[in-house]
Amino acid sequence: MRSKILDVREEHRWDVAVIGAGPAGLAAAHAAATGGARVIVLERAEHPRYKTCGGGLLGTSQRLSAEVMTVPARDRINAVTFTHDGRREFTRRAPGEPVVTMVRREDFDAAWLGAAVRAGVTVRQNSLVRGITQDDAAATVSVANGADVTARVVIGADGSAGVSTRHVGVTFDQQDLGLELELAATEADRFRWRGRLLLDWGPAPGSYGWVFPKDDQLTVGVIMKKGQGTETRRYLRDFVTRLGLADRAVLRDSGHLTRCRSATAPLRRGRVLVAGDAAGLLDPWTREGISFALRSGSWAGRVAARGGDLAAYDRMIGERIAPEMAAGSTLLGLFGRHPRLVHAAFASPYGWRAFTGFCRGEISLTRVLRHRAIRAAVHALGGRPGR
Ligand SMILES: Cc1cc2nc3c(=O)[nH]c(=O)nc-3n(C[C@H](O)[C@H](O)[C@H](O)COP(=O)(O)OP(=O)(O)OC[C@H]3O[C@@H](n4cnc5c(N)ncnc54)[C@H](O)[C@@H]3O)c2cc1C
Repeated sequence: MRSKILDVREEHRWDVAVIGAGPAGLAAAHAAATGGARVIVLERAEHPRYKTCGGGLLGTSQRLSAEVMTVPARDRINAVTFTHDGRREFTRRAPGEPVVTMVRREDFDAAWLGAAVRAGVTVRQNSLVRGITQDDAAATVSVANGADVTARVVIGADGSAGVSTRHVGVTFDQQDLGLELELAATEADRFRWRGRLLLDWGPAPGSYGWVFPKDDQLTVGVIMKKGQGTETRRYLRDFVTRLGLADRAVLRDSGHLTRCRSATAPLRRGRVLVAGDAAGLLDPWTREGISFALRSGSWAGRVAARGGDLAAYDRMIGERIAPEMAAGSTLLGLFGRHPRLVHAAFASPYGWRAFTGFCRGEISLTRVLRHRAIRAAVHALGGRPGR
């Protein structure tokens, strides 16, 4: 993607500089540029680039993306198979709107990049950010092999191990390791998996595995609490074998940590805001993060474009995302202690409706937890209403 040609005199002064061109950074840049700001994005890689991710878009992510681009869907899911450590298999179907839309992150992020550039954003790729400094007037981002960038506001969206996370001082109270394989799908696999995903509740508390179909590829992954590398690898190996996929060509084999923020962690330091994974914003239970990245990114971009009251961003996250994360944390605790019960719940009509409503973005986890029967069950099983 070609960047805009810059006036050299102007290059060192921007309204908003964004670090990282993932969903959070590009949604931030798009929103800030739409709000009238002069915006630059600094990205260490070059799109299209691979990112370890299931690429499952919930309804919220699909809708936010469809407002600015054609979503590069590889599959649309209307059936879900559930297993508990490979056993007690059942499949539920929900015709109509997709329950989940499958994308490959290289396509999806490149499409967001195109939308940001169309909105007037300047993107500098192959630009590794090394550090941030700030004073009362501006923040300066130092870039390896390139000119430093100074802006009124900086939005850090450089993922969970980013420079901006450290600058702001974000702390985490949950860390998990996700391992994924991209497998070449045979014709038989494509037929077997088209329009259907699989979720397996894993052997360790809070762990689970997935099969996400994407045309000629199957993404097979598992996630488990950090610090259990051997068990996580064993779970992935056993999972793939059980599914009869052990002999498929492995196109990618990668891993990545997911980190959920502590409830009191900062979202901002002075004129530097953090969004998406950089802020530790993702669902503690499902570890779904794209909808959190798109929402937090676009709010950060809007607030940054307006300038002035940057604390408005903290309030938006506090009111709209913090309760969802607290609900996700409660459900993770319940799931960790009673995976069989959660498995059985999805087999019931109410559980399946709640699942599809959540995935389609029609109801939040907070609302699911407000349901009287669910609240009573959580209470009886020793859960807390929030963190
Ligand atoms: C195994 C696994 C499976 C997942 N599956 C799903 C799923 O199916 N659905 C879902 O919604 N979520 C999923 N997630 C979570 C999701 O991937 C993240 O929440 C999401 O990518 C966050 O977006 P982001 O823009 O905040 O960060 P990222 O997507 O990580 O983007 C950060 C960007 O910043 C760039 N960058 C980093 N450091 C620097 C630097 N110093 N200078 C310049 N650029 C830099 C990176 O190159 C990258 O482009 C999964 C996560 C894992 C680990």
